[in-house]
This record gives sequence, C-alpha cells and structure tokens, in this order.
Amino acid sequence: MQLEPGKKAIVVGLGTSGMAAVRFLQAQGMNVFVSDSCSEEKLKETDLAMLDEMGVLFETGGHSREFFDKADIVVPSPGVPLNLPILEYMREKQVPVVGELALAAGRIPVPVIGVTGSNGKTTVTSLIGHILQSAGQSVFVGGNIGTPVLDYLSGEKNAEVAVLELSSFQLEIGESFRPDIALFLNLSPDHLDRHGSMENYAAAKRQIFAHQEPEDTAVICADDPWIMNEPVGNASTILRFGFHPDAEARVTQNGVVISAIISGENIDELYDLTGTFLFSNVNKLNAAAAILAARSIGCNAGAVRKGLADYILPDHRMTVVKDIDGVRYIDDSKATNIGAVNAALASCGNRVVLIGGGRDKESDFNMLAPAVRQHVKQLILIGEAADSLDKALGSIVPTSRAGSMEDAVFQAAKVSQPGDTVLLSPGCASFDMFTGYAHRGEVFRQAVSGLRKINVERVEVKR
Ligand code: ADP
Repeated sequence: MQLEPGKKAIVVGLGTSGMAAVRFLQAQGMNVFVSDSCSEEKLKETDLAMLDEMGVLFETGGHSREFFDKADIVVPSPGVPLNLPILEYMREKQVPVVGELALAAGRIPVPVIGVTGSNGKTTVTSLIGHILQSAGQSVFVGGNIGTPVLDYLSGEKNAEVAVLELSSFQLEIGESFRPDIALFLNLSPDHLDRHGSMENYAAAKRQIFAHQEPEDTAVICADDPWIMNEPVGNASTILRFGFHPDAEARVTQNGVVISAIISGENIDELYDLTGTFLFSNVNKLNAAAAILAARSIGCNAGAVRKGLADYILPDHRMTVVKDIDGVRYIDDSKATNIGAVNAALASCGNRVVLIGGGRDKESDFNMLAPAVRQHVKQLILIGEAADSLDKALGSIVPTSRAGSMEDAVFQAAKVSQPGDTVLLSPGCASFDMFTGYAHRGEVFRQAVSGLRKINVERVEVKR
C-alpha cells in the first residue's frame, strides 16, 4: 500500500498496535491522527503523553465525522469492530480502511513465516522462532504477540527472518499481505460475536493464503475439514500435518514423521518428542507444523531437533501448577474457546474437575457436550457465562457455581479424589472478572498454592 507523505492518516483504537501504527505512519511522513471510543481517563497516560510529544492530535470518547474529514487512509487496530458506523461511512467515501498487515505488506525485507488458526498460534509462532534462533538465525518473533510488526518495521530491522502470529482480525484487513510460508493450524468456533458466522471467520483466516505466489509454501492441517475442504491459493508447495496417514508431517505415538519433498529434496525424518514439553497430542500437532515451517525455511534437521528438545511452553497453556494429595492442578487459562477446551479435556483422562466460564463470545457450549460427558466428573462455573454453560452441560454432569476463582478452586479441591485432575480451561474470555487470561491464570495458581494451608474436607461426587 502506497503511503504518501503529507496525507492524512487516522489510527482508530489506541492499543499496542495502534501506537505502533502511529509511529510507523508518522515515520512515513504522514499527518497522523488518532480516534478512540474510550474516554481519556481510560486510555494509558503514557500513550497520550507520547501522542502529545509526537504532535499527534486525538479525539476520545467516540468517533466524529468532522475528525475523519479529509482522511486519506484509516487504520483500525485489530480490536476495533469493522462494522463501526464511522468505518462504514469512510468506506462509502472510498477511503481505504486497512490494517497493520496491509501497511507492512511489501515492506518486510526478509522471508516471512505467518501463523494463524483458532488455537496454537502463540505456541507454534514461538516454537518456530525458538528453533530458528537455536539454529543461530536472528529472528523477529511478533505480530499478534509481543512486538507489533509495524514497530519492527520502525526499528532497525536486523532480523534474517520474521515469524508472525496473525489473528483473523489482522488478516481480515491485511489487503495484499503475503507470507512466504503461511501456516493455518486449525479452525474451531471463536470470535463469532465479531465475525458473525463460521464462514466469515474461516474466510478471514484464509486470507493468509490470498496473496501467495507459486514459489510460496502453505502449511495446513490435514485433519481439519474447514481447512482441507477449501482451496489454498496459489502456493505450489502445500505441506500437510496431522494424524492423517497421508500428511507430509504425520503425528505418531512418540512424535512426528516427515515424508515430504521440500525445496526439491526428498525428506524422510523422524522427530521423537518423548520427554519434551511438546509430548501431548495437541502439541505434537503444533510441533509437526513448526517442523515443516523450519525445514522449509532451510533449517537443518539437527537444529530442528535441538530446538524441539529445549523448547518451553508459554505459561497458562496446560501448565501443571502442582500435585496436591494425588490431585493434579492444571492452568489452561489461555483456553478461551471451545476448541481449546476440547483439546485440553482430550489430554486429561476421565476424572476431570473442570473450572469453566467467563465472558461468553457467543459460543455454542453444546459443542463441549461429548468431551464433557467423557472426561468431566464435576463442572464448576464462574463468570457471566455460568448460566449458558449450565444450560448446555448441566444435564450431563453435576455443576456448581463459584463467586470467585478462590471459591472455584476450593470447591474443586473438596470434590476431587487422588488421581483426579482439576483443570482451569474456561472456554471464555476473562474480562468479566480479570484483566486478561494471564491474570486469571495467576489468580488460579495463587488459589491452588493457598490450598495447602486450609483443611479441605472432601466430598464424594456421584455421577
Ligand atoms: P493462540 O495463540 O491461537 O490462542 P496458544 O498457543 O496461546 O494459541 O494456545 C491457546 C489455547 O489453545 C491453550 O489453551 C492451548 O492449550 C490450546 N492449544 C494449543 N495448541 C492447540 C491446538 N493445536 N489445538 C487445540 N488447542 C490448542
């Protein structure tokens, strides 16, 4: 996307990405403005001070047509709904409404690996980054995690490769953004409050392939019908991973078997994941995708094996907090959708005390029914979605309500027996009770740590 110095650019939404967009657009010589629906008190003081320092004018508490008058380009941050009346108005006026990836398109001077999917993006992005770094490459890892891509572009740009986590919100308005290697990990319902339907959500994710050329590579999940039933785009190298017997990266009991032609070379390799952090069905899938990406970018098998061996999973993703009196407590606070909860339950045996709930994202909790029936002995509900979860699952499994995380953990400890797993895998956003999933996970961990000090009188749960 061409950015002409002196033209008027409006950044909508002042989060981390919004600030990165402001810095980037100003460095291009554009005349930058910011509009945010939050009141001034709710915005970060440091961000506002920085805008002042940069001479960037801003409006808060809403978006006025006068402020948007004569704008040449509008850049909504990923959290901003694209059906905002002001954005619709600007589109009607033929003003480009584009996201950060559209601005980055064609400006990243190194090969780009892009990772999207409903779950596993952060794990796979950080895993690829870790593998390449341990192979001695200098890597930029960011995008939807950590540093926004536009901040990378505003900086020194001294990486040899960029590994970017990409959300559906970013891809939806990514215009001509084109990763050299694009990974689409899986698709399960999420953010339907924003996308409206699974079809729209899938289409947004599929944008990752939309501008690829024949020399590019697409890495896709062979087990996912949403992904396999649609064409991938123009990439001529398509590599599949999964349990499917024909997958180029096939998940086995102990790890991943690669049987593929990559950059003209026949590759037959075994990656044993025993004893690594990646030894669960879900993470073997993630490892398979990461191996394909790393091998495609030219990393040798030895370096990939080394990276897999010493990779540590990021926090709040099936992290074991503690074993207390034979009960295992697991923090999977990052599970904010149904797909992640189903995956968590599938790897936790059949005696799970599940703590779920939070802010609903218009999820269909009935989709949890089979896994809950098979794996859960008691469901403890927190937050705004408690009623909806109870309605969907209350006839399958005993449920109870908890007013706080501490209460939920206390109740879980009371009903659990040696051999059980207490799993926090909420299937919802956290913002009704916490500042984010990490805060929710920390409160859970603290509550678990506090358990030793109280005398929990156990009760037997009858199913
Ligand atoms: P994302 O960045 O897409 O949210 P994360 O790696 O942060 O993905 O993981 C989010 C949640 O999804 C965690 O609960 C994690 O245990 C779970 N998860 C990770 N990989 C997968 C996968 N391949 N399929 C389903 N769930 C997954």
